[in-house]
Amino acid sequence: GTFDSMGFSVPVLKAIKRNGYRLPTPIQRKAMPHILQGVDVIGMARTGSGKTAAFVIPLIESFPCPACWAAVWILMIVQIRRQASPSSTVLVGGDAMEAQFAELALNPDIIVATPGRLLHHLEEVTGLSLRAVEYAVLDEADRLFEMGFMEQIREILSKMGEGRQTLLFSATLPRSLADFASAGLNAPVLVRL
Ligand code: AMP
Repeated sequence: GTFDSMGFSVPVLKAIKRNGYRLPTPIQRKAMPHILQGVDVIGMARTGSGKTAAFVIPLIESFPCPACWAAVWILMIVQIRRQASPSSTVLVGGDAMEAQFAELALNPDIIVATPGRLLHHLEEVTGLSLRAVEYAVLDEADRLFEMGFMEQIREILSKMGEGRQTLLFSATLPRSLADFASAGLNAPVLVRL
């Protein structure tokens, strides 16, 4: 398996090579074709396996603006308005809300967020909606669950439209997380090494 045989467009293949990636890692080889097809995926992979690129590169295929691809590396929630160039904002708890309000007012295409802070913004900012979210990525889901974010993530997903693609990456898949995934994802494909 090579990147060339996976169905990426020529500009994305060039970007992969420019990034110095020669061959896909095992999780990339197994998960990328499903993600490109648009189905929900549960990927079992730990940090260091190349899991971030496993979901970022297929999502990059959807971005209309090659110049912006380099900026898109770690994301939890992706909101794409296809007409626009992608812009992104990071909403992390502990940072000042005010700067985040200003960034949200610019209507970013990509929101990278911790669950609590995202919910806080959804309560505070009139007109902020997740209905148009096309891709939701839950990265390190087992850790989010261990930290007690399950209810908050459930609430966030419930505010998104049904048509989205949801990707969940986790090093482990305890029963509680598997149950959550079968409720919150749509017929997910399980990819494990
Ligand atoms: P991650 O598991 O997402 O934390 O990625 C671990 C590291 O592997 C990161 O520094 C990536 O840039 C790198 N990486 C991801 N995919 C590849 C690849 N196909 N070839 C070489 N390095 C990669």
